[in-house]
Parts: sequence; C-alpha cells; structure tokens
Amino acid sequence: MVTDYDLIVIGGGSGGLACVQRAAEYGARALLIESHRLGGTCVNVGCVPKKITWYAAQLAHAVHDAPDYGFDLSLSGHDWALLRQKRDAYIVRLNDIYAANLERSGVSLLRARATLTTRPGVQAGGHHYRASHIVLATGGHAVVPAIPGAELGITSDDFFTLPARPADVAIVGSGYIAVELAGLFSALGTHTTLLVRGERLLGCFDPFLGVQLLDTMREEGLEPLLHATPTALRRDPQGKINIDLADGRRVGPFDTVLWAIGRKASVAGLGLDAVRVLCDAAGFVRTDPFQETNVSGIYAIGDATGRAQLTPVAIAAGRRLADRLFGGQKDRRLDYENIPTVIFSHPPIGTVGLTEAEARRRHGAAVKVYSTGFVPLYHSMTTRKPRTLMKLVTVGSEERVAGVHVIGPGADEMLQGFAVAVRMGATKRDFDDTVAIHPTSAEELVTMR
Ligand SMILES: Cc1cc2nc3c(=O)[nH]c(=O)nc-3n(C[C@H](O)[C@H](O)[C@H](O)COP(=O)(O)OP(=O)(O)OC[C@H]3O[C@@H](n4cnc5c(N)ncnc54)[C@H](O)[C@@H]3O)c2cc1C
Repeated sequence: MVTDYDLIVIGGGSGGLACVQRAAEYGARALLIESHRLGGTCVNVGCVPKKITWYAAQLAHAVHDAPDYGFDLSLSGHDWALLRQKRDAYIVRLNDIYAANLERSGVSLLRARATLTTRPGVQAGGHHYRASHIVLATGGHAVVPAIPGAELGITSDDFFTLPARPADVAIVGSGYIAVELAGLFSALGTHTTLLVRGERLLGCFDPFLGVQLLDTMREEGLEPLLHATPTALRRDPQGKINIDLADGRRVGPFDTVLWAIGRKASVAGLGLDAVRVLCDAAGFVRTDPFQETNVSGIYAIGDATGRAQLTPVAIAAGRRLADRLFGGQKDRRLDYENIPTVIFSHPPIGTVGLTEAEARRRHGAAVKVYSTGFVPLYHSMTTRKPRTLMKLVTVGSEERVAGVHVIGPGADEMLQGFAVAVRMGATKRDFDDTVAIHPTSAEELVTMR
C-alpha cells in the first residue's frame, strides 16, 4: 500500500475536495481522508439542501400571492416527507458524483477519521501516512450552549432529518443560519419564534438589512422575540419544550427548539496540540495569508480557519493553495476582501464589500452613501407589500463603489455581477453610465441619485 504522498487533505468537504482535485490535476500524488459523507457541510447539511428547501418556501409565497394575480387555487398542504425524500435522493447522487470525480482524477480516498501524529504524518484507519504537505479542511459544527436541557434542542444538521414539519418551532440565534431556517419553517406553515439575544438581526451586516428583515418577518407572521437569552430548556408532560429566559420570562411550548448561535472549528481529536498547531482564542486554526499554519508543511482552509465561512471561500482557498504548492504559482492566495454573500431569507439579502460603518471607520468623511427603497413591481399586485431596500457605499472624490447591499426579491441573483464591478474598482459614474435593464429591481442600482 502507498503511504507516501505529495499531499494529504483531511476533510472531503468544499475546501478539501477542491484542493485535492486541483493538486491531482497538477500531477500530485494525493490522498483525501474523509470520515463521513463526501461533500461536507455544504452538500449534506448546508447550502444545497437548504437552498432546495428555500425554493419550496419561495413556492409557498408564490402560492399565497397567486390569487392576487387572478389564480383560483385550492391547496391541500405541503408534503414535508416527500420533499425530504427527493432532496435526500439528490444529495446521494451528489455524494456519488464526488466519489466518481475523485477516482477519475486519480485521488486516493480513505474513509476514516484522521489524526496528526508527532511522527510526521497522519494516522487513519490503522495506518500511518506521510506527505510533504498536509491540509486541514475539517470544517465546523454548530455550537450548543452549556445550559440545563440544551440537549433537548436540535441544530441545523438535524433540520435536514426532521421526519415531519413541527407545528411550533423556536429558533435561537440572529445570524444568517437562524434567519434562513426561520424563514423556511415559517413559509411552509410552522408557527416560528425567533429568539434574538439583542435587538438586531444579522449583526455582521449593514444594520438596515436586519431592520428591514425584522419588519418583513413580523408582517408575515414570524415572531421575533428580542433580548431573549435562554437559560434552560424543559420538557413538559405533553412532550413539548419550554424555554426559560435570562430576564425571567418563560416561552413555549414548542415542538422543536433549534440552536443557531454560531459555529466552531471541528478540530477535536485532530492532534493539533501534539504537533503544536496553534488556534486562535475562538478555537479556529491560525494561518498566514498563504493558508499555512505555524507548523511548516501543515495548512488549513475553509471553516476550520473561521474566516468568511462560505463554500466558495473554502473552494477558492483550497484551489489557490494547490496552485501555489503544485502549480508553480508562488504568490497565489485568496484575497479575503470583497467576498460577496447572500442570505437566503424571505426576501433574500445580497451584499458585497464594506458596510457604511466599516467604510466610515476606514475612510471617514470621504464616504458618500446612496440609498433607495421601493415596493417592487411584483408586489404592486400582491396583498403583501414588502419593501426592497438598496445601499451603495462609495469612497473618495471618484466615488469608488466599496459596498453594495440589497434586500428584496432577486437580490440573490443580482449581486454576483455587481461583485465583479466592485472588485474591479467601479465608480458611481461607471454604475450611472451603465444602461439599465427595465423593468427590474436591479436597475435601481444604476439609477440611484
Ligand atoms: C445550514 C447551513 C447553511 C449554509 N449555507 C451556505 C450557503 O448558502 N452558501 C455558502 O457559501 N455557505 C453556506 N454554508 C457554509 C458552508 O457549508 C461551509 O462554509 C463549507 O461547507 C465549508 O467547507 P469546508 O471544506 O471548510 O468544511 P466542510 O464542508 O464542513 O467539510 C469538512 C469535512 O471534514 C470532515 N472531517 C472533519 N474532521 C475530520 C477528521 N478528523 N478526519 C476525516 N474527516 C474529517 C467532515 O466529515 C466534513 O465532511 C452553510 C452552512 C450551514 C451549516
């Protein structure tokens, strides 16, 4: 058996797969070690099944709006189990495609749990493997708080295996996973309460986005509960869960409570201490700008590093690392600025670049902001009237566009192209000189005054 490789990647998720495959394209002898399903979080319990469920939720909204467009519909509910079964089947197909791709590109795949060892290399499946380069791509997992009864709650992983849609749900959290899952449950008919520690949703984003989302959620029947910090969960005799809050309130009963209060690096048992790989205070693996840890020849990419925990970021970091190590591109690395991202809420949010506050911190009075708000044409016909809001953050006398932030239908598909423009250093004048596409919401971004 071959135990010496050019590259060993631990973790076959978004980053690990991208890195190992790119390395193999350069002719590297590469080994991928994965303890669970290929594809990692994104494919199995993240982006992919979530987005499929988001489409179902979009349809629920469309069905709700349909009478306003003249349709006479009779609806007898939504089959959660059918959606789950079809979604699971699609994901199994993806798992198989990943395995076939690895085989085609000559990557060795070991299905085992890997540990770094002091004898340089990796221990997995009862064997010791060595390589010139070892990449940690072990991802992350949801945090569950250390409070009594916390184990009664589930995490986003369990969302995807729920056999039936609960009637009453509490989601604890205010980040993108919390608001996305709350939106899915609510659209599909679950009475949904969102327990928010402070009074803002989406704390890392430009505040107007969270404020608008909160308004829209309230209008659409979702119940946000602010200043709500759980201190204990208890099951009542009927099997339902009640939540004690820090300020003495008790909320419930709920069929399901879901923790979405943050994610941690999955590095337990990886042997980091033994080989002296350092982590930051939050437990994420520390790397330099070239993804190398403090130990020469050991690298980390993706969620395990805690920086911009997104699939395309893990993929880009993995591919660039392989380009550098095996493709002769010695300066190749990921630039973590201007990473676009979408929150699949209802309506979706798209954002790239600096928030207004970040821009003012960095550039002071040189910042000029343009914003607009309107009811999009689609909602001119519907009973519900959620507003679309947009903001452009510009910097300097040339008004370079440093941030684009949108909440409204279509924001998810709108932002990729604008992210290219921001990356290329487009100015407000470039936006203004671009002929609008009419009638769209996106045209407002090139007609703002
Ligand atoms: C609910 C949810 C929704 C999301 N939605 C989006 C989205 O819409 N868009 C987006 O860009 N991102 C989204 N993300 C984030 C995205 O899934 C992650 O950023 C991405 O999967 C990170 O890739 P990774 O390679 O770093 O880790 P992962 O994909 O988590 O892969 C890590 C892999 O390592 C394996 N592993 C761990 N330890 C070991 C070990 N010791 N030995 C062997 N194998 C090991 C694990 O089994 C896992 O397969 C979402 C995440 C969640 C939880």
